[in-house]
Amino acid sequence: MGTARWLTPASGYLEGYTHTLNPYVGCSFGCSYCYVRRLPVGLFRSEPWGSWVDAKKAEPLKLMSELAKAKSKGSVAIFFSSATDPYQPIEVSAQVTRSLLEVMVDEPPDFVLLQTRSPLVVRDMDLLQQLKDRVRVSMTVETDREDVRRVLTPSAPPLAGRLNALRQLRDAGIDTQAAVSPILPHTPDFARLLSVTAPRVVVDDFFSGDGSGGRRSEVLGMRPIFEQNGWISWYDPSVIGRFVDSLRPYMPEAAIGVNAAGFAPPEYKVAYCPEDTEVALDPAETESEG
Ligand code: SF4
Repeated sequence: MGTARWLTPASGYLEGYTHTLNPYVGCSFGCSYCYVRRLPVGLFRSEPWGSWVDAKKAEPLKLMSELAKAKSKGSVAIFFSSATDPYQPIEVSAQVTRSLLEVMVDEPPDFVLLQTRSPLVVRDMDLLQQLKDRVRVSMTVETDREDVRRVLTPSAPPLAGRLNALRQLRDAGIDTQAAVSPILPHTPDFARLLSVTAPRVVVDDFFSGDGSGGRRSEVLGMRPIFEQNGWISWYDPSVIGRFVDSLRPYMPEAAIGVNAAGFAPPEYKVAYCPEDTEVALDPAETESEG
């Protein structure tokens, strides 16, 4: 293991987060619309994005001191992960993400958003339960159409498994949200389906949600893919508004998030006490948006 750091100061699009945490470099899901493809990590390697993934070379226990140091300076809200999926297929054996969650149970951040599209997250339910309201699992469910997923994210886990994972986590008392990110062509039943699966839904799109006003999505070639598949009417900034409207009959307004603000942490007035990190949080003070 090397001396790499686990926590990276958050910047740019991630509203409300102090740090990002990426247990892997690369991502075997290789989504066609992944903006990381165009970042240095995706460009400066000879193999195509999606064909490689490496565990980050750092000792999981090093996260303990990084967390303690960050917490001594203020609140710590972690986006886990921003440039990979923390539940890569190799996580089954590598258990890097699980090791990092174990550290967090002992040295909890104020909030961690566990962003994934893999049902493997259910394996770590025991640790997520120990983190209580300091963790929210955000499961990407961009569509309810498997034919669409197979075209745009053929290496990502099937949708039924993700929906099932959301239900299992919710039923285990873990805070969850479905991340329709980016919104893709879907059936008329999609809003209802999500509303009975997760207590919260956050939506973004290829335009306001790509962090560049739609330029990243154009560079990634999303428009021709939508044209070739007969979906061009879905490649439009109006789609997100119509979908949010379709959620409203099923969910309270506070349970619907949009774009970067929708991914932001719930408000924590007093997230931890530097003198006594064991102090219990008052649920009324830490109630989530959902
Ligand atoms: S899972 Fe996330 S990081 Fe991985 S390829 Fe898809 S969008 Fe990119």
